[in-house]
Amino acid sequence: MMNSMKTITLVSGRLSPKALSVGLVAFILLVCVMLVSAIAWQLKQSADERLTNAKIAAHNIVRASEQQAQDTLRQAESILSNLAERVENDKLSNEQRVRLSKVMADNVKATDGIQGLFIYDENGDWVVNSFSSETVAKNNSDRSYFIYHKNHPGSAIHIGEIILSRTTGDMIIPVSRRTQYPDGSFSGVVLATLPVAYFQSFFERLDVDKKGVILLALNNGNLLARRPMIDALMTTNVAKGELFSRYLVNSDEGTGSWTSVVDGVGRVYAYSRVRGLPIVVAAGLSLDSVFSTWWTYVYQASVMVLLIIFVLTSLGFLFYRQIQRLLVAEEELRLAHRDLEHIAKTDSLTGLPNRRCFDATFAQEWSRACRTGNSVALILIDIDWFKQYNDHYGHVLGDDCLRRIAELIGENINRPADLAARFGGEEFVILLPETELAGAVKIAEEIRSVIEAAKIEHRGSASGSVTISAGVSSNHQHGVIAAIDLLEKADSHLYLAKKLGRNRIE
Ligand code: GH3
Ligand code: MG
Ligand code: MG
Repeated sequence: MMNSMKTITLVSGRLSPKALSVGLVAFILLVCVMLVSAIAWQLKQSADERLTNAKIAAHNIVRASEQQAQDTLRQAESILSNLAERVENDKLSNEQRVRLSKVMADNVKATDGIQGLFIYDENGDWVVNSFSSETVAKNNSDRSYFIYHKNHPGSAIHIGEIILSRTTGDMIIPVSRRTQYPDGSFSGVVLATLPVAYFQSFFERLDVDKKGVILLALNNGNLLARRPMIDALMTTNVAKGELFSRYLVNSDEGTGSWTSVVDGVGRVYAYSRVRGLPIVVAAGLSLDSVFSTWWTYVYQASVMVLLIIFVLTSLGFLFYRQIQRLLVAEEELRLAHRDLEHIAKTDSLTGLPNRRCFDATFAQEWSRACRTGNSVALILIDIDWFKQYNDHYGHVLGDDCLRRIAELIGENINRPADLAARFGGEEFVILLPETELAGAVKIAEEIRSVIEAAKIEHRGSASGSVTISAGVSSNHQHGVIAAIDLLEKADSHLYLAKKLGRNRIE
C-alpha cells in the first residue's frame, strides 16, 4: 500500500493543469494561424499569378493593336506623300485628274483600312477624290485638319479627331498631310480617311473577355476607336482617366490596374504610345473575369479552412474536457490517498497514531539518534486494572475510557517531534526524540498525575479512579544497543512499576 502511494506522488515533472490547458489552446491557435497563413499565402500567390498573366495577355493585345494601327497609318502616310509629291510637282490637267482619281481608287482598294483619298486646294475646294473622277463642287476648308495644315508648315502627317464622312456618312479618322508651293506657301491638303469600323472589326478579332476593353486614342485623350463600341465615341475624351493623368505621364508603355472613366469597370490594363504617331493604344481585361475562378477558389478554401478549424477546435475542446476530467479524477485520488494514508497511520478508536506509525517513526528516530549521538527516550504506559474496568463497566465504556486516557496523553505531549501512539490494547507509547531519561521521567510523571487528577471513576481499582503505570527508558542507559532493547527496557520498567504497586513511574 505504501508503495502504491509513492507511485502516485512521484508522477511529477510535468506541466501544471493550467499550463496544459493554455498549451492546448496555444497549440490549436498556432495550427489555425499556420493553416490560415499558408492558405492566404497560396491565395496571394495565385492572385499575383493571375494578375501577371492578365497583364501579359493585355500587353499582347496592345502589341497586336499597335502593330495594326501603325501598319495602316504608315500605309496611309506613304500614299499621302506620293500624292503630295504629285500635287506639288505636276500641274494637274483635267485628264490627269481623272487618271489620278483612278490611281487613288486603286490605292484604296489595295489598302486595308483606308476608305477614301482626297486632294484639296488651298481654298479647301475638292480637286481629286478616290470615289469619283467627276469634278465635285464641295469645300472642306472648315475641317479642323484643313485649318491645322494651313497654319502648320511641315510635311508630317496629322491624325485628326473622329468626324462623320461627308461622302459616306461613316465615322472616320482623318489622316492628312500639307501640300505646298515651291516657295513653301500653303497649296492645299491631301487626306486619307480611315473608318473607325475597320479598327473596330480588328479589335473584335482579338481575345478579351466580355467586360474587357481595347482602345485607340489621340494623345489629347480623344478616343479614335474602342471595343466595345460606345455611342458617344466621337465626343469621348479620356484625358482625365488614370491612363492619361497617371500612367502615361510617367511612362510611354506599361501595365496597371484602374477603373475606367467611361464605364466604371475595374480592369488590368496594358498600354503603349504608338511610336512615331500621336496615338495611344490600351487593352484591359476586367478584374471580374481575371479573378472569377480565383474567387471560387477563395470561397472553397475558406470553407475548407473553416471546416478544419471547426474540427480542430472541437477535438481540442474534447481533449480539454478530458484533461479537466483527468485532473478532477486525480484530485479525488489524491484526497483518497491522503485519507488512506491518514487511516493507515491512525488508530480508529483513540485517534492517536497507531502501532504501524509508531514503528516507522521509532525506526527513523532511532537511526537518527545513532547518527547524531543524541538521546531518545520511550515511555510505555499501561492502564491499571483495566480488565476489571471492562468487567465492571462493560467494553463500550471501556472504549470511552481508553479514548479519554488517549486524549489526556495527547494533550500533554508538547514538542512537535514527540509522538504518542496507541501501542496495543490499553497500552500507549510515547516516543521522545532528543530527550534525556530525566526529562522523559518528568513527562511520564506529569501524565500520570494528570490522569490521576482526572479522577475517572474506577470501582474495580483500590484507588477508586483510573490510574496508569509507566516504564521509561532511554538509549543512553546501560545495555541499550538496538531499538528493541529500548522497548524491552521500557517494558521491563513498566512491569516493575506494576509490581511495585501501580500508579507509578519506573
Ligand atoms: P494491570 O495492567 O494493572 O496489571 O491489570 P490489567 O487488568 O490492565 O491487566 P491486562 O493488561 O492484562 O489487561 C488488559 C485488558 O485491557 C484486557 C482487555 O480486557 C482490555 N482491553 C484491551 N484492549 C481493549 C480495548 O480496545 N477496549 C476495551 N474496552 N478493553 C480493552
Ligand atoms: Mg496491559
Ligand atoms: Mg493494564
